[in-house]
Amino acid sequence: MSDMLLETRALGAGYGPVTVLRDIAVQIPKGQITALIGANGAGKTTLLRAISGLCTTTGDILFDGSPITRLATNRIAARGIAHVPDGRGTLAGLSVEDNLLVGGYLQRGRAARAAGIERIYSHFPKLKQRRQQQAGTLSGGEQQMLAIGRALMQGPRLLMLDEPSFGLAPLIVRELFTIIADINRTEGLSILLVEQNVHQALSMSERAILIEHGQVARSGPSAEFLGNDDIRRAYLGS
Ligand code: ATP
Repeated sequence: MSDMLLETRALGAGYGPVTVLRDIAVQIPKGQITALIGANGAGKTTLLRAISGLCTTTGDILFDGSPITRLATNRIAARGIAHVPDGRGTLAGLSVEDNLLVGGYLQRGRAARAAGIERIYSHFPKLKQRRQQQAGTLSGGEQQMLAIGRALMQGPRLLMLDEPSFGLAPLIVRELFTIIADINRTEGLSILLVEQNVHQALSMSERAILIEHGQVARSGPSAEFLGNDDIRRAYLGS
């Protein structure tokens, strides 16, 4: 059995006539956190969208050895890929718990959904406290927790997070990343993390992929990124 959960081969992606990504070959290992870094507009969000079937692609994407390229988004989700987009997208008018139930639509049976919700609450006690509160009235950090919780309700094997720290205060960001690392460790869940906060992303991941101008500029152990002078100058401000 391969240690790789997801692999792209000669992947191109874009929006209609606009090509954003070219010749992307990346491998996402099982059970690890992989950081996806790069400047604004480099194509990080587009790579997540390509994996989720949300933009036009060429080439191949293999998930656990099977092609998922050009499957419909709901079928890709059903295979075990959960995507928390930037902007979070929780359902503002529904309660915290109803948002989680919407996320659990793939799980059959009330007992399985109830167990899933308790598991989410064990990672995010703040959501349990606010289970009846309307999602739209949560703080930014709580909404991000809810968006992640809702994605976990799918029972994914790969969780893709697009800039979870965006717009959050440093203390909240630290709390959120502690929980994300804990979910990875306790559940062995594979995570692909897009982050502007490059130091944080490299510190908490085993491997990293740097995208520049729609292509992979570098990939490898995160510790090597942290120790590399060019990376430090360009992305870590030192
Ligand atoms: P950021 O951190 O700013 O979100 P990113 O690395 O995630 O950057 P993308 O959002 O993937 O970058 O954008 C890559 C390129 O694709 C940009 O030039 C952007 O303008 C373009 N792009 C994104 N969405 C669309 C769209 N729906 N239609 C056309 N072009 C798009």
